[in-house]
Order: sequence, then C-alpha cells, then structure tokens
Amino acid sequence: MKIREVLAEKRPTLSFEVFPPKKEEQFASVEGAAMEIAALRPDFMSVTYGAGGGTSRYTAQLSADLQQQCGVPALAHLTCVTSTRDRVREVLKDLKEKGIENVLALRGDIPEDGKTENEYRYAAELVREIRAFDETICIGAACYPEGHVESASQTEDLKHLKEKIDVGVDFVTTQMFFDNNRFFHFLYRLRDMGVTTPVIAGIMPITNVSMMKRVRSLSGATLPRRFTSLLDRFADKPAAMEQAGILYATEQIVDLIANDVNGIHIYTMNKPHVAKRIQEEISLLL
Ligand code: FAD
Repeated sequence: MKIREVLAEKRPTLSFEVFPPKKEEQFASVEGAAMEIAALRPDFMSVTYGAGGGTSRYTAQLSADLQQQCGVPALAHLTCVTSTRDRVREVLKDLKEKGIENVLALRGDIPEDGKTENEYRYAAELVREIRAFDETICIGAACYPEGHVESASQTEDLKHLKEKIDVGVDFVTTQMFFDNNRFFHFLYRLRDMGVTTPVIAGIMPITNVSMMKRVRSLSGATLPRRFTSLLDRFADKPAAMEQAGILYATEQIVDLIANDVNGIHIYTMNKPHVAKRIQEEISLLL
C-alpha cells in the first residue's frame, strides 16, 4: 500500500524505522528484530540506506521481507549523492520488482573525503528521477525542524524544502528533535508557505549514553535541559537510562498527538522492546 493513502485515511499514523545490517552474516538477526517490530502491526516501516550506499542490497531485501512475510507496507530509503544515475535506476528497478511502492528520496551525507559521483547534488534531483521512472510511486523526503546542518538559516532550508516538495514529494519525515516547540514552529512556518503535505514527526528514544553522545555530535538537535538532566542523573544506571529515555519520547509523542500531528515515526535502532513499550503506552491515543 502507498503511504500517501495510509496518511489520507488515518491520523495519526504510527510507523517504525529499522536499519539493515552491514554484513551478510548479520542479516538473519536484523531480520528477526525487524519481524518482531512488524508483528506490532505499525502502519508502515522504513528501512534505511547505508551511508555511501553500502547496504543497498539489504535495504531492498529487508523491505520486501517486511511486506511479503508480515504484510506491513515498506518504505525503502534511497540516497543519491554517492551514486550514479544508472545505479539509482537499477535500485528503483529492483524495488519495483520486489513490489516496493514507497521510497524515501534522500541526498545522503557528503562523505568526509568529499568524494561524490557528481551526478546528483540535492535530493530534489532524485525526486525528479524517481517520478520520471514511475509516476505512481509514493515518494517521501527528509525535513529538519531546526534547519539542516549545512543551511545558513532555517529560512533558506525551508525554501529548498518547498522546492523539493514541489517536484513531487507526497510526505516528509522529520529529523529527530527533542523539543516539540521547535517542531511546532517549523510546521507553522511550512504551512504559512502554503505547503499542505503531511509531515511525520521522527522521534528517537534515547536509551543509552552512547546514543546521546552520537545524537549530540550528528543531528544538531537542541537538547533541552529537561532532557540532558536524564543523562546527568542516569548515565551510570543503564536500565534507568533506558526507561527514562522511553518515557521522555513517549511524553513527546503524547503532546504531538494532542496537537494533531499527521504521524509518528519512531527510530527504533532495531530494538523491538523499545518499539513495543512505546506502542503500549500510546495504544489508546491512536
Ligand atoms: P537535501 O534535501 O538535498 O538538502 C541538503 C542540503 O542542501 C540542505 O541544507 C538544503 O537546504 C540544501 N539544498 C537543497 N537544495 C538546494 C539548492 N537547490 N541550492 C542550495 N542548497 C540546497 N542518510 C542516509 O545515508 N541513509 C538513510 O537512510 C537516511 N535516512 C534519513 C531519514 C530521515 C527521516 C532523515 C531526516 C535523514 C536521513 N538521512 C539518511 C540523512 C540525510 O541523508 C542527510 O541529512 C543529508 O545530509 C541530507 O539529505 P536530504 O535528502 O535532506 O538533502
């Protein structure tokens, strides 16, 4: 099923992200975790595409397994900046053959050595390519409530986001954020620009200290004092840190649902028990 149809029928949607393994020998265990998450019957699941395109084969495989074995619509991520146009078309063909109807079109991060294929510069170019390949496919894209890290300002980032949406995006999913007010402010500005496309809120339950450190360095998301105090208090108590992280994410979700968000997308980090716990906590709100 196409995610744009799911979004038109239901509000809010609940969906989960998983990431594929880097190596063949890890596939079975990752697939097992993804299947456990799929057994929670989310509205859809997304499967990431490894930085530099390294895990592309597993992205398509895992997406197909989720659909065929569990009946959960899959959203396959696809990045373009380290890819050629021929390679992108090959991946799209493979996804189509596997029955995948939803693609999250991404530029991908510029590699540290700066080496790209120079065939794509921005995700909007990939959106055009996908639309030209199949005009019926459902296309999602990324957005950044606090602005993308490379953007000089949120205004500039919003302008480029609108350009990307205008070339054929059906919905957008946000980068993780920990302060809902940042999300509401972003949404207000986007709607003010006349953009009516559904916006799905991406929520990352931070369940251990190393995740917190990674988030700090990679996402550029503001970490409110309420949030960092969890780390101060529970850093050396792993079980408590996990519980506090799940509760914090759940509180964010309750507030988002109360404010009529289109959908909630949970970055599960392939942890079925985290997905299950959050789903249980909000079961009557959906
Ligand atoms: P773009 O939309 O191309 O934007 C990138 C930057 O370029 C922004 O600063 C934008 O403002 C600017 N820009 C856009 N158009 C123009 C223009 N015409 N002129 C000048 N500037 C412009 N990465 C992965 O490797 N694999 C994944 O599976 C993955 N999944 C993700 C899922 C979500 C929901 C999100 C939010 C991110 C994900 N990422 C993933 C990370 C993403 O690839 C990076 O954030 C990347 O740096 C930007 O990708 P984008 O598609 O948002 O790029």
